[in-house]
Amino acid sequence: MKANLPPLEKEPQRLGVLGGTFDPPHYGHLLMVEQSRLDFELDQVFLVPAGIPPHKRGEQSAPLSSARERYEMILLAASGSPFFQVWDFELKKKGPSYTLETLNALQKALPRTRIFFIMGRDSLAEIFSWKNPREILTGYDIIVVSREGDPGSLIEDIEQEIEGARIHRLLMPALNISSTELRERVRREKSLTFLLPPPVENYIWKNGLYR
Ligand code: ATP
Ligand code: MG
Repeated sequence: MKANLPPLEKEPQRLGVLGGTFDPPHYGHLLMVEQSRLDFELDQVFLVPAGIPPHKRGEQSAPLSSARERYEMILLAASGSPFFQVWDFELKKKGPSYTLETLNALQKALPRTRIFFIMGRDSLAEIFSWKNPREILTGYDIIVVSREGDPGSLIEDIEQEIEGARIHRLLMPALNISSTELRERVRREKSLTFLLPPPVENYIWKNGLYR
């Protein structure tokens, strides 16, 4: 499938990628990306909303939103930084999205770019339930966001097990926000102010999401 990248002024040397369901996107996502950009001197970061998230089906606290709604919300969230762009590759793809395929498509479109795949520590802990964990871990630089005080052993264990894994730890103050909790707050008609960008909050109320 063609990569159809968002517009780039020039080929980035170092590019960050954060995949997620983004239902809804929140300051936890945005801060981890911004902090990755600063600490790893990334020229640009792509936010990649998942098409059919293979891990997410069945998880139901409040109704989930459509691909289009998630896309519109992540666009609003990304507009807060000139360095963030949304890449809709996984949304346009038919069937489930797999991280390795996405990263390989990106690398093919930008052969000279060094790609940093950003993930939360909770995602790293689950990576062996994904497709192709070994290829992801050895084919790309991985930035793992963890908090001061998190045991470092998870990363060490994986580095021991997977030879050639390039895992970088990013220490960030904990921002204890999750999309699941935000959906639940909406269901209870509690405000989302200071948890996600105001345009995203407006979008949620205006479109009656999660109710
Ligand atoms: P859900 O509650 O539906 O699982 P989420 O808030 O975890 O949603 P995802 O879209 O699943 O959001 O997350 C995308 C990525 O962002 C994952 O790698 C996850 O680990 C990371 N992430 C999400 N929230 C935070 C946070 N508050 N701090 C650091 N990383 C986060
Ligand atoms: Mg999650």
